[in-house]
Amino acid sequence: MTGPALIEVDGVRRRFQTASGPVHALDDVSLSVGDGEFCTIIGPSGCGKSTLLGMIGGLVMPDAGRILIAGKPVTGPDPRAVATVFQDPGLFPWRTVVENIAFGLELQGVDRRARRQAATALLGPLGLRDFAGKYPRELSGGMRQRVAIGRALAIESPIVLMDEPFGALDEQTRLLMGEWLLDIWRRTRTTVVFVTHSLHEALALSTRVIVMTARPGRIKSVLPLPQPHPRSMESPELVALRAKLWGEIREESLRAMDGMGGPEMAPHSPPSQAPRRRRGAARRDAP
Ligand code: ADP
Ligand code: MG
Repeated sequence: MTGPALIEVDGVRRRFQTASGPVHALDDVSLSVGDGEFCTIIGPSGCGKSTLLGMIGGLVMPDAGRILIAGKPVTGPDPRAVATVFQDPGLFPWRTVVENIAFGLELQGVDRRARRQAATALLGPLGLRDFAGKYPRELSGGMRQRVAIGRALAIESPIVLMDEPFGALDEQTRLLMGEWLLDIWRRTRTTVVFVTHSLHEALALSTRVIVMTARPGRIKSVLPLPQPHPRSMESPELVALRAKLWGEIREESLRAMDGMGGPEMAPHSPPSQAPRRRRGAARRDAP
């Protein structure tokens, strides 16, 4: 952590009732996020990442445990404390860029002039200076997502939750968006809790990476990343961290894929290497 705990997740559990029986989404998750941190959560699909973010945002209630923000229990959504950005930017097609960015301020009852001014001031940092009056359909995917992030930043909540915000973008756009987000975060020092499947994003952006287990989601490991930004992903240190992180994620992703794991798994290898093999399966390279 880089500062005092702003978010405290304390022993939360959550089950969902579904048509095919109960789903145990989260099991005894505890986590502190410091003021100004960029904390990334990574883990297999369905391990409860969105559920955890939903709890921090007050949209999902835990069955057990509690969440505190600045020492106060979360009892429901509070945009003054937490803003959330999802994979789908969720913009209003009939509103311009500036009107979309100003939306949260409008909900807070900020008058028209003041909210326009605040939204306009964000256009530069968002890289949208020439797009104030454009409509979402006139923007690229990366631009739309920057508008969504702008809408979250406009309300100046101390915490921004990002649930796979770049998940729908192509790889090049994603890399650039990561650099852009890093720049914004370094300027605003907003506390970010970021969910991604990208090892690159996790390692390039975060001050700490939390790896979650396959469902029921628990915290598997915590990787502190004190390295200064911007980071060279080719440095031996980052290459070694990437291999370590991949080893942990691979193990959990295999579990999530077939509901088994541990002893059946081949030793971990980087993503570029051969696909998984099972013990007993033919191995051309076996001695
Ligand atoms: P992740 O974001 O890591 O992919 P989620 O938090 O979305 O995982 O979901 C965790 C598990 O809980 C999944 O099996 C999902 O289907 C289930 N789940 C999440 N929300 C609900 C809900 N509202 N009703 C029923 N099941 C849900
Ligand atoms: Mg999710």
